[in-house]
Amino acid sequence: GLAAKLPSNVRLIEQCPVLKVEEGSPIKLSLSQGEIKTDKLILATNYEACKLGFLSSRLIGSTLSGSFTRRLDAQELSTLGSLKEWGVLSLHGGGATIRLTSEGRISLRNTAEYSGGTLLSKQRLERRQAIHRASFEKHFPQLAHVPFEYAWSGVEGISRNGTNFFGQQKDKIYLAGGYNGSGVSKGSAFGHSLAEYASGGQSSLITDCLASAPAKWIPPRPFLDIGAIFAVRSRFRGVGLDR
Ligand SMILES: Cc1cc2nc3c(=O)[nH]c(=O)nc-3n(C[C@H](O)[C@H](O)[C@H](O)COP(=O)(O)OP(=O)(O)OC[C@H]3O[C@@H](n4cnc5c(N)ncnc54)[C@H](O)[C@@H]3O)c2cc1C
Repeated sequence: GLAAKLPSNVRLIEQCPVLKVEEGSPIKLSLSQGEIKTDKLILATNYEACKLGFLSSRLIGSTLSGSFTRRLDAQELSTLGSLKEWGVLSLHGGGATIRLTSEGRISLRNTAEYSGGTLLSKQRLERRQAIHRASFEKHFPQLAHVPFEYAWSGVEGISRNGTNFFGQQKDKIYLAGGYNGSGVSKGSAFGHSLAEYASGGQSSLITDCLASAPAKWIPPRPFLDIGAIFAVRSRFRGVGLDR
């Protein structure tokens, strides 16, 4: 991946979360075992930025979950057409994301909920698997005998009005994130532009990113918990057979 292709002037530090960011000159990052001082900081921590004091009341985490089947055999794969790998995304925000992976597994994700920006516990994930299963059997009745082998949950950053975040947050502290569940392409463009922007660059892409609508205010807890539960649930309104 990216980590294996970094240029020689980049040092990668893993398994070492930043616990606190202190503005100033230099900016100070507190780690569990030490401190990093820097003249400029680019934050790409998505919804976790709130824990570091940025975008609170603007960005929250929505927890999604899905399952993977075991590897399909040749006969089972032949019922899915000739493409070796594909992905289907619903046009409805609450619809399932379904993929045939390069390993020959079906991956299906169809839940989203507010869980305080955390992953689901094993028990909660097992309960969500019933929802994955129902969708899987509806979409692939010919594979109803195929068991799931893995389940997972993940958290995506969302704003109240579906906008993305880009730009300078505080003096020499830059941030891009959010993306409301579609950051694979958007996040790459925003990340690239943010590095250029923080280095004093100019481009039409930077202009586009800077034009992102301001994020709407999100109320604090416990109002947030109640509002977010309803907001995330409303995502499934009218989803019908797409889930
Ligand atoms: C289940 C799921 C399915 C998705 N499906 C799609 C899809 O089909 N298409 C699509 O376009 N998008 C999809 N998304 C959204 C997409 O994954 C995100 O928009 C994208 O990953 C955001 O990129 P990012 O680099 O901003 O943040 P992230 O990918 O969230 O990366 C943030 C990084 O910051 C690190 N970090 C956080 N806090 C700290 C800290 N304090 N110190 C150090 N490091 C920290 C994290 O460990 C992580 O590595 C999906 C998201 C989820 C959860």
